[in-house]
Amino acid sequence: MSPGRRALLRLLMLAPQSLVWRFARVYIAGQTLDEAVDAIRALNGEGCRATLDVLGESVTRAEEVQAYVDEYVRALEAIVEARLDANISIKPTAMGLAFSPELARDSVRKILEAAAGHGLTVRLDMEDSSVTQKTLDLYRALRAEGLANVGVVLQSYLRRTLVDARELAAAGASVRVCKGIYVEPRRLAYQDYWLVRDAFLDAVEVLLREPKAYVAIATHDEWLVFQSRRLIAELRVPRERYEFQMLLGVDPAMRKMIVSEGHPLRVYVPYGTGWYAYSIRRLVENPRFAAHVVRNVLGFGPPQRA
Ligand SMILES: Cc1cc2nc3c(=O)[nH]c(=O)nc-3n(C[C@H](O)[C@H](O)[C@H](O)COP(=O)(O)OP(=O)(O)OC[C@H]3O[C@@H](n4cnc5c(N)ncnc54)[C@H](O)[C@@H]3O)c2cc1C
Repeated sequence: MSPGRRALLRLLMLAPQSLVWRFARVYIAGQTLDEAVDAIRALNGEGCRATLDVLGESVTRAEEVQAYVDEYVRALEAIVEARLDANISIKPTAMGLAFSPELARDSVRKILEAAAGHGLTVRLDMEDSSVTQKTLDLYRALRAEGLANVGVVLQSYLRRTLVDARELAAAGASVRVCKGIYVEPRRLAYQDYWLVRDAFLDAVEVLLREPKAYVAIATHDEWLVFQSRRLIAELRVPRERYEFQMLLGVDPAMRKMIVSEGHPLRVYVPYGTGWYAYSIRRLVENPRFAAHVVRNVLGFGPPQRA
């Protein structure tokens, strides 16, 4: 994350939650599962797949983990009942990974088994670097138990990612590649925009070249979309081995272009009451909305016409 975005993050955290909600609403399907189902139905109608995320992270008690597990099982049932083209994404710290890897493994296993019963897949989102290794260990442990319907995420800003990409490709993993959104030290993560872009493309290429692997290319960066499309064509990668992914509320015009070219595309659809941390991260990435919020926090009021 650039120094500018870091400063913005600090300012945004001073904003009242009601203000953040007003601007962040576009990125979130709603606070209820019914609203998420409606959003996915609309996306499916546009030819997009979806992945459902129950908002929340970093829980500290086993009861909170159970509440998330229950909500995910309910979400899986809703996907099946409404015949939606969707899977689910889970934040491992919402499963207790930060304080009990065993609890996280048991909890994710329950969700994977419920999903497998409906023929659905589950992806473990990747959070900050304090849980990178734990998340990959969790993924590998679940695969070693014979659970095949689980995928993972790699962040191209991390210096370790190319090594992880090679290992996961060789293991025939399903991997989402994204740039990464957390504030990480230079020792662990590239800080330079172009280094992060190059590393993104390197990881995507490693995964596209391995016939057993599946790659989800998660970006709104048009240059990366263009370069990924070029690689897919050059390497003659079939549609069954990749998809593009975008976040709800970000660049629907590009989403339509990618779909109209015949590429599979999945939209990340978050919902739930734990919307605050997710919203702050999205707003930091959107200079236009963030500027409005900052004006309000600093008491400048709405922008004036010249
Ligand atoms: C489906 C999906 C899943 C993800 N999962 C994870 C994960 O598990 N772990 C993780 O660390 N990160 C995850 N991310 C976030 C990712 O790491 C990036 O932070 C985010 O996608 C922005 O990077 P970008 O590649 O779109 O490039 P950027 O250079 O940030 O953006 C490219 C263009 O898109 C526009 N844009 C980007 N974000 C917004 C926004 N919020 N509002 C308006 N315009 C915007 C920018 O203005 C710019 O023009 C995910 C992203 C996607 C799309």
